[in-house]
Amino acid sequence: MPVRKPHHLLILGGTAEAAALAQAALEGFGDRMAVTTSLAGRTEQPGPLPGQVRIGGFGGVPGLRDFLAAEHVDLMIDATHPFADQIARHAREAAEAAQIPRLMLIRPPWRRHALDRWIEVGDVPGAAAVLPRVGRRVFLTLGASELDAFAAQTDRFFLVRLIDPPRAPLGFADHEIVLGRGPFTVAGERQLMRRHAIDVLVAKASGGAATEAKVIAARELSIPIVMVRRPLPERGERADSVEAALVWIRRRLALLDRQLRTVSTES
Ligand code: NAP
Repeated sequence: MPVRKPHHLLILGGTAEAAALAQAALEGFGDRMAVTTSLAGRTEQPGPLPGQVRIGGFGGVPGLRDFLAAEHVDLMIDATHPFADQIARHAREAAEAAQIPRLMLIRPPWRRHALDRWIEVGDVPGAAAVLPRVGRRVFLTLGASELDAFAAQTDRFFLVRLIDPPRAPLGFADHEIVLGRGPFTVAGERQLMRRHAIDVLVAKASGGAATEAKVIAARELSIPIVMVRRPLPERGERADSVEAALVWIRRRLALLDRQLRTVSTES
């Protein structure tokens, strides 16, 4: 039977930062801390992940609380995508109930450049609503579950980028699908937009280097971007880089060890 490590970190993942954090946390603290990454299971072939991996929803806050207790999790890092607001709320509620320290690893947003032409909207339906005033040949870089809002616009061409092929035909009158997972290059994005004569890009303000190339290419080609703003983050401790998250882990492990020593000397 494998020896149980004194500590257990749960990373809520699904992002490049979460994968990098799992690797760095194991390198830095793997001698005394197990690391489990949790994925929702949205993509068919997630990239390789070090440490333990579990896939699928927990079953809301009660399910996540049960998991934390059953797996003796004593630290949690929510490194999910900035738009994954439901799991972020569940993570906060479950961590508060279980009294487990929780950190949110939130990548910095993209900086708006003076030459950028962004039309900022609050949500995906808002992006669909402004589109008729902005362009006719649209590059849609959203999740597969967010495309329906655009299907009624039959007089527009949509270039739809997805990670996996869609499970059912998309409801667009005129569209093309391009499959791809970041990181993308500026040259590649520029070429793609030129080839399809794109005149508007629709994107979420995700931030991060892996998908920033489209923002830069749109700037260079003077193409407007309908940019969906991020939802407000949950309250709680935050880090904006893997390095900062490692500092938090180190500090939290020292506190947990001190608590353990106090309990053992008192008993
Ligand atoms: P969401 O709306 O916040 O979450 C919906 C439900 O999916 C949650 O209630 C939870 O189910 C489950 N879930 C989400 N993330 C999970 C995780 N890491 N581990 C286990 N269960 C998880 O999230 P979403 O927007 O669908 O995103 C799902 C995943 O894709 C996240 O891990 C996120 O990091 C990644 N992702 C999202 C986006 C995006 O634009 N939203 C982009 C790239 C990657 P239960 O309630 O049953 O626990």
